[in-house]
Amino acid sequence: NVHVRFCPSPTGTPHVGMVRTALFNWAEARHTHGTFVFRIEDTDAQRDSQESYEQILEALRWLGLDWDEGIDVGGPHGPYRQSERTEIYADVAQKLLDAGYAYESFSTSEEIEARNVAAGRPKAFGYDGYDRNLTEEQKEAFRAEGRKPALRIKMPDENITFNDLIRGEIEFKAGTVPDYVIVRPNGDALYTLTNPVDDAMMDVNVVLRGEDLLSSTPRQIVLYRYLMELGIAKQIPLFGHMPYVMGEGKKKLSKRDPESNLFLHRENGFIREGLLNYLAGLGWSIAADRDVFTMDEMVEHFDVRDVKANPAHFDLDKAIAINAEHIRMLEPEDFLRRSVPYLFKDGVVSADNWDSLTNRERQILTDSVELVQPRVRLLGEVSGMVGALLSTDEYIKPEADARKQLKDSAGDVLDMAVSTLKEIPTEEFKAEHVHEILAKVLVEDGGIKPRLAFGPVRVAVSGRRVSPPLFESMEILGKDLSIARLAELRK
Ligand code: GLU
Repeated sequence: NVHVRFCPSPTGTPHVGMVRTALFNWAEARHTHGTFVFRIEDTDAQRDSQESYEQILEALRWLGLDWDEGIDVGGPHGPYRQSERTEIYADVAQKLLDAGYAYESFSTSEEIEARNVAAGRPKAFGYDGYDRNLTEEQKEAFRAEGRKPALRIKMPDENITFNDLIRGEIEFKAGTVPDYVIVRPNGDALYTLTNPVDDAMMDVNVVLRGEDLLSSTPRQIVLYRYLMELGIAKQIPLFGHMPYVMGEGKKKLSKRDPESNLFLHRENGFIREGLLNYLAGLGWSIAADRDVFTMDEMVEHFDVRDVKANPAHFDLDKAIAINAEHIRMLEPEDFLRRSVPYLFKDGVVSADNWDSLTNRERQILTDSVELVQPRVRLLGEVSGMVGALLSTDEYIKPEADARKQLKDSAGDVLDMAVSTLKEIPTEEFKAEHVHEILAKVLVEDGGIKPRLAFGPVRVAVSGRRVSPPLFESMEILGKDLSIARLAELRK
């Protein structure tokens, strides 16, 4: 039974790299009918925040990446916040020390650097193993100076190899990974200890994470061996390191990049289906010729071994195009319900949820959904499409690029349109009929080019150069308001 985990540190706002990690682990769990564990690694009081913790939870919930064990839902291996597990780490650290797998290290970083320089090694060579064989007397002497020891893991003098699920065989040569700190002199357990200990205790057997963590894998493998000797770990997990997500140019997408900010994408109107589909493509694909798929399809086909190791590029335009496809796939009512908060934020409806809208607002949205849904790529674009339809204003101020469409002939065109439309009986004011009549009077009989004939009408009705189909919009607005808008623009 596959046990995977998502174990972010609550620092900062959720970013796309983090979501991709959560998504791939979730898909692996769902594909294998395994267990998805959600743990929070908040052992760094300086950097962790409750706000970030809450944002991460909100992100997973919004995305629908549900977990089987962990935060909020509980499970057999809790607690699932590392800040509540300090006693467990202290206990394991003591066992490692007692067994001789870890040792007390009194060297300061200055001393380590000085020894490296004296021995002709680069200053940043790393720790030299100096404290490995201190005698009891030497340790006592350090203690008498008031020094407190860190705990370091003893790395064996041998090559460490493992078979990465994504990258194949990886080898770290003997002597290249120094003995590393697992507990600080002040007693704080570090990621180096807490992460493998929790994975061991929570039965995690597949670790999928970013390639930035590749260098910690040989250390963790050694620690797992010790934990197995101590009866704390059952196995060494399989590891898969996912490729970096690259941003503009050849740079890694940084957490500070606006393009990496999950909630910003949501604010702009990405729907979860579109964003997840796009992020799934950062390293994985369902088939060579397919970009668009659902999460059910991903779950059906996902296999970590198909993830590619080369860097993936975040391409916002492509993400938006995929989002548009998913918007089209929504049930119209679902599309409207999800659009309402955006409409409210933009001030075009009176409430932030469907059920609290006025009947008129609901009616207009329902009447226009067929026109709007296929034409937006982000929910943030819906307001621009329906704003003029919802408005009862007789004058719609044209946007700048729409105003540019109005040529010298616009006045005459609008006059002709107004007098023509007045002749149509109210009950016959339907899209097709309005179209026919205006085409006849303005284009056929009037000899005006269609663009010059309908352009001004469109600008009068919607204020925009690009809008939902014109005649359908006029039908929704009704005869009186449509005519009033043409007349107002004419003034
Ligand atoms: N808390 C670690 C991080 O957020 C998890 C690393 C891991 O997956 O091992 O980077």
